[in-house]
Amino acid sequence: MARQFFVGGNLKMNGTKDSIKSIIEHLNSADLPEDVQVVLAPPAPYLSLAVDTNTHKNVEISAQNVYDKQSGAFTGEISAAQILDSGAKWTLTGHSERRTLIKESDDFIASKTKFALDQGLKVILCIGETLEERKAGVTLDVCARQLDACSKIISDWSGIVVAYEPVWAIGTGLAATAEDAQETHKGIRAHLAKTIGAEQAEKVQILYGGSVNGKNAPDFKDKVDVDGFLVGGACLKPEFVDIVRSRI
Ligand code: PGA
Repeated sequence: MARQFFVGGNLKMNGTKDSIKSIIEHLNSADLPEDVQVVLAPPAPYLSLAVDTNTHKNVEISAQNVYDKQSGAFTGEISAAQILDSGAKWTLTGHSERRTLIKESDDFIASKTKFALDQGLKVILCIGETLEERKAGVTLDVCARQLDACSKIISDWSGIVVAYEPVWAIGTGLAATAEDAQETHKGIRAHLAKTIGAEQAEKVQILYGGSVNGKNAPDFKDKVDVDGFLVGGACLKPEFVDIVRSRI
Protein backbone atom coordinates (compact mmCIF):
# COMPACT_ATOMS: atom_id res chain seq x y z
CA MET A 1 0.00 0.00 0.00
CA ALA A 2 1.11 3.59 -0.57
CA ARG A 3 2.28 5.29 2.60
CA GLN A 4 3.00 9.01 2.53
CA PHE A 5 6.70 9.93 2.31
CA PHE A 6 7.61 11.51 5.66
CA VAL A 7 10.71 13.50 6.63
CA GLY A 8 11.32 14.51 10.23
CA GLY A 9 14.00 16.97 11.29
CA ASN A 10 15.28 16.72 14.86
CA LEU A 11 17.22 19.87 15.77
CA LYS A 12 18.21 18.35 19.15
CA MET A 13 19.74 20.97 21.50
CA ASN A 14 20.83 23.24 18.67
CA GLY A 15 19.81 26.62 17.35
CA THR A 16 18.89 30.14 18.29
CA LYS A 17 15.87 32.29 17.47
CA ASP A 18 17.65 33.55 14.37
CA SER A 19 18.96 30.22 13.10
CA ILE A 20 15.68 28.36 13.65
CA LYS A 21 13.77 31.13 11.93
CA SER A 22 16.08 30.96 8.96
CA ILE A 23 15.83 27.13 8.71
CA ILE A 24 12.03 27.45 8.57
CA GLU A 25 12.11 30.38 6.17
CA HIS A 26 14.33 28.31 3.89
CA LEU A 27 11.67 25.56 3.98
CA ASN A 28 8.89 28.11 3.39
CA SER A 29 10.51 29.21 0.16
CA ALA A 30 11.48 25.71 -1.00
CA ASP A 31 9.60 23.86 -3.67
CA LEU A 32 8.50 20.81 -1.65
CA PRO A 33 6.71 17.90 -3.30
CA GLU A 34 2.92 18.00 -2.84
CA ASP A 35 2.75 14.55 -1.28
CA VAL A 36 5.46 14.80 1.38
CA GLN A 37 4.88 15.34 5.09
CA VAL A 38 7.63 17.26 6.90
CA VAL A 39 7.83 17.54 10.68
CA LEU A 40 10.44 19.74 12.32
CA ALA A 41 11.34 19.39 16.01
CA PRO A 42 13.09 22.46 17.46
CA PRO A 43 14.06 22.76 21.14
CA ALA A 44 11.03 23.52 23.34
CA PRO A 45 11.67 27.26 23.84
CA TYR A 46 11.31 27.75 20.08
CA LEU A 47 8.12 25.77 19.44
CA SER A 48 5.87 28.83 19.12
CA LEU A 49 8.43 30.69 17.03
CA ALA A 50 8.64 27.70 14.69
CA VAL A 51 4.84 27.42 14.45
CA ASP A 52 4.48 31.16 13.77
CA THR A 53 7.26 31.22 11.16
CA ASN A 54 6.09 28.17 9.22
CA THR A 55 3.85 28.93 6.25
CA HIS A 56 4.09 25.62 4.42
CA LYS A 57 0.97 23.44 4.52
CA ASN A 58 3.02 20.22 4.40
CA VAL A 59 5.21 21.22 7.35
CA GLU A 60 4.24 20.67 10.99
CA ILE A 61 6.13 21.30 14.21
CA SER A 62 7.05 18.77 16.89
CA ALA A 63 8.39 18.78 20.41
CA GLN A 64 11.38 16.56 21.17
CA ASN A 65 10.01 15.26 24.46
CA VAL A 66 6.83 15.17 26.55
CA TYR A 67 5.82 14.06 30.03
CA ASP A 68 3.12 11.52 30.91
CA LYS A 69 1.13 13.76 33.25
CA GLN A 70 -1.48 16.44 32.58
CA SER A 71 0.06 19.26 34.68
CA GLY A 72 1.41 19.96 38.15
CA ALA A 73 4.59 19.80 40.21
CA PHE A 74 6.92 18.29 37.59
CA THR A 75 9.71 20.84 37.35
CA GLY A 76 11.34 21.00 33.96
CA GLU A 77 8.82 18.78 32.20
CA ILE A 78 6.48 19.73 29.35
CA SER A 79 2.90 18.51 28.96
CA ALA A 80 1.14 17.44 25.80
CA ALA A 81 -1.42 20.20 26.40
CA GLN A 82 1.36 22.81 26.45
CA ILE A 83 2.85 21.45 23.24
CA LEU A 84 -0.58 21.62 21.58
CA ASP A 85 -1.11 25.11 23.03
CA SER A 86 2.11 26.24 21.30
CA GLY A 87 0.59 25.14 18.00
CA ALA A 88 2.82 22.09 17.59
CA LYS A 89 1.07 18.84 16.68
CA TRP A 90 3.76 16.24 17.29
CA THR A 91 6.27 14.97 19.78
CA LEU A 92 9.20 12.61 19.54
CA THR A 93 9.43 9.85 22.13
CA GLY A 94 12.12 7.28 22.80
CA HIS A 95 15.03 8.98 21.05
CA SER A 96 18.17 6.97 21.81
CA GLU A 97 19.81 10.03 23.37
CA ARG A 98 17.02 10.08 25.96
CA ARG A 99 17.11 6.30 26.37
CA THR A 100 20.87 6.35 27.08
CA LEU A 101 21.71 9.77 28.54
CA ILE A 102 18.52 10.31 30.57
CA LYS A 103 17.99 6.58 31.19
CA GLU A 104 14.38 6.52 29.99
CA SER A 105 12.99 2.99 30.18
CA ASP A 106 10.87 1.22 27.56
CA ASP A 107 7.86 1.39 29.90
CA PHE A 108 8.27 5.11 30.63
CA ILE A 109 8.57 5.85 26.91
CA ALA A 110 5.46 3.76 26.26
CA SER A 111 3.57 5.61 28.97
CA LYS A 112 4.57 9.00 27.53
CA THR A 113 3.67 7.85 24.03
CA LYS A 114 0.22 6.71 25.15
CA PHE A 115 -0.44 9.83 27.18
CA ALA A 116 0.61 12.10 24.30
CA LEU A 117 -1.68 10.25 21.87
CA ASP A 118 -4.58 10.38 24.32
CA GLN A 119 -4.11 14.15 24.59
CA GLY A 120 -4.25 14.56 20.80
CA LEU A 121 -0.59 14.75 19.80
CA LYS A 122 0.89 12.62 17.04
CA VAL A 123 4.09 10.80 17.95
CA ILE A 124 7.33 9.87 16.24
CA LEU A 125 8.39 6.85 18.30
CA CYS A 126 12.12 6.18 18.00
CA ILE A 127 13.61 2.72 18.38
CA GLY A 128 16.90 1.07 17.50
CA GLU A 129 19.81 -1.05 18.65
CA THR A 130 23.31 -0.21 19.86
CA LEU A 131 26.47 -1.38 18.09
CA GLU A 132 26.98 -4.16 20.67
CA GLU A 133 23.42 -5.36 20.11
CA ARG A 134 23.91 -5.28 16.36
CA LYS A 135 27.12 -7.29 16.65
CA ALA A 136 25.30 -9.79 18.88
CA GLY A 137 22.68 -10.21 16.13
CA VAL A 138 19.77 -9.04 18.29
CA THR A 139 18.68 -5.96 16.29
CA LEU A 140 15.13 -7.16 15.74
CA ASP A 141 14.77 -8.46 19.30
CA VAL A 142 15.68 -5.02 20.64
CA CYS A 143 13.27 -3.26 18.28
CA ALA A 144 10.55 -5.76 19.18
CA ARG A 145 11.09 -5.21 22.92
CA GLN A 146 10.90 -1.41 22.50
CA LEU A 147 7.76 -1.69 20.35
CA ASP A 148 6.09 -4.25 22.61
CA ALA A 149 6.25 -1.89 25.59
CA CYS A 150 4.00 0.39 23.51
CA SER A 151 1.74 -2.20 21.89
CA LYS A 152 0.98 -3.62 25.35
CA ILE A 153 -0.84 -0.40 26.24
CA ILE A 154 -1.65 1.24 22.88
CA SER A 155 -4.13 -0.36 20.52
CA ASP A 156 -4.68 2.46 18.00
CA TRP A 157 -1.43 3.17 16.14
CA SER A 158 -2.88 5.65 13.62
CA GLY A 159 -1.15 8.57 15.38
CA ILE A 160 2.27 6.88 15.55
CA VAL A 161 5.15 7.06 13.09
CA VAL A 162 8.01 4.69 13.96
CA ALA A 163 11.59 5.90 13.46
CA TYR A 164 14.15 3.11 13.26
CA GLU A 165 17.44 4.71 14.29
CA PRO A 166 20.36 2.36 14.90
CA VAL A 167 22.39 4.04 17.63
CA TRP A 168 25.67 3.30 15.82
CA ALA A 169 24.49 5.33 12.83
CA ILE A 170 23.36 8.44 14.71
CA GLY A 171 25.71 11.37 14.25
CA THR A 172 28.54 9.08 13.13
CA GLY A 173 28.46 9.61 9.38
CA LEU A 174 27.98 5.83 9.06
CA ALA A 175 24.44 5.46 7.76
CA ALA A 176 22.96 1.98 7.43
CA THR A 177 22.91 0.83 3.84
CA ALA A 178 19.54 1.08 2.15
CA GLU A 179 19.48 -2.74 1.93
CA ASP A 180 20.16 -3.15 5.67
CA ALA A 181 17.54 -0.55 6.55
CA GLN A 182 14.97 -2.25 4.31
CA GLU A 183 15.69 -5.62 5.89
CA THR A 184 15.20 -4.27 9.41
CA HIS A 185 12.13 -2.20 8.48
CA LYS A 186 10.58 -5.31 6.95
CA GLY A 187 11.24 -7.19 10.19
CA ILE A 188 9.77 -4.36 12.24
CA ARG A 189 6.62 -4.33 10.10
CA ALA A 190 6.30 -8.11 10.34
CA HIS A 191 6.61 -7.88 14.12
CA LEU A 192 4.01 -5.11 14.27
CA ALA A 193 1.67 -7.25 12.14
CA LYS A 194 1.81 -9.88 14.89
CA THR A 195 1.21 -7.46 17.74
CA ILE A 196 -1.11 -4.73 16.40
CA GLY A 197 -2.53 -6.59 13.41
CA ALA A 198 -1.56 -6.72 9.74
CA GLU A 199 -3.95 -3.96 8.70
CA GLN A 200 -2.50 -1.37 11.09
CA ALA A 201 1.08 -2.55 10.51
CA GLU A 202 0.67 -1.93 6.76
CA LYS A 203 -0.31 1.66 7.45
CA VAL A 204 2.42 2.59 9.97
CA GLN A 205 5.12 4.75 8.38
CA ILE A 206 8.59 3.50 9.33
CA LEU A 207 11.34 6.10 8.99
CA TYR A 208 15.06 5.45 8.85
CA GLY A 209 17.31 7.71 10.93
CA GLY A 210 21.07 7.88 11.35
CA SER A 211 23.46 10.01 9.27
CA VAL A 212 20.94 10.67 6.50
CA ASN A 213 22.10 13.48 4.22
CA GLY A 214 21.30 15.03 0.87
CA LYS A 215 23.66 12.63 -0.88
CA ASN A 216 22.57 9.27 0.55
CA ALA A 217 18.81 9.92 0.85
CA PRO A 218 18.06 8.95 -2.79
CA ASP A 219 19.66 5.50 -2.16
CA PHE A 220 16.60 4.54 -0.10
CA LYS A 221 14.15 5.57 -2.79
CA ASP A 222 12.98 2.14 -3.95
CA LYS A 223 13.01 0.45 -0.53
CA VAL A 224 9.38 -0.47 0.02
CA ASP A 225 9.39 -0.43 3.82
CA VAL A 226 11.45 2.77 4.20
CA ASP A 227 8.74 5.43 4.30
CA GLY A 228 10.99 8.38 4.99
CA PHE A 229 13.68 9.69 7.31
CA LEU A 230 14.34 11.20 10.69
CA VAL A 231 17.22 13.59 10.18
CA GLY A 232 19.47 15.11 12.85
CA GLY A 233 22.59 17.01 11.78
CA ALA A 234 21.54 17.58 8.16
CA CYS A 235 18.25 19.26 9.13
CA LEU A 236 20.30 22.22 10.38
CA LYS A 237 21.64 22.73 6.86
CA PRO A 238 20.09 23.77 3.55
CA GLU A 239 20.56 20.18 2.31
CA PHE A 240 17.53 19.22 4.42
CA VAL A 241 15.47 20.39 1.44
CA ASP A 242 17.38 17.93 -0.80
CA ILE A 243 16.35 15.12 1.57
CA VAL A 244 12.72 16.25 1.45
CA ARG A 245 12.96 16.30 -2.36
CA SER A 246 14.82 12.98 -2.59
CA ARG A 247 11.82 11.01 -3.88
CA ILE A 248 11.14 13.27 -6.85
P1 PGA B 1 21.82 12.27 12.63
O1 PGA B 1 20.75 12.09 13.83
O2 PGA B 1 21.04 12.48 11.36
O3 PGA B 1 22.64 13.47 13.02
O4 PGA B 1 22.63 11.02 12.56
C1 PGA B 1 19.55 11.41 13.64
C2 PGA B 1 18.72 11.45 14.88
O5 PGA B 1 19.27 11.34 15.99
O6 PGA B 1 17.49 11.59 14.81
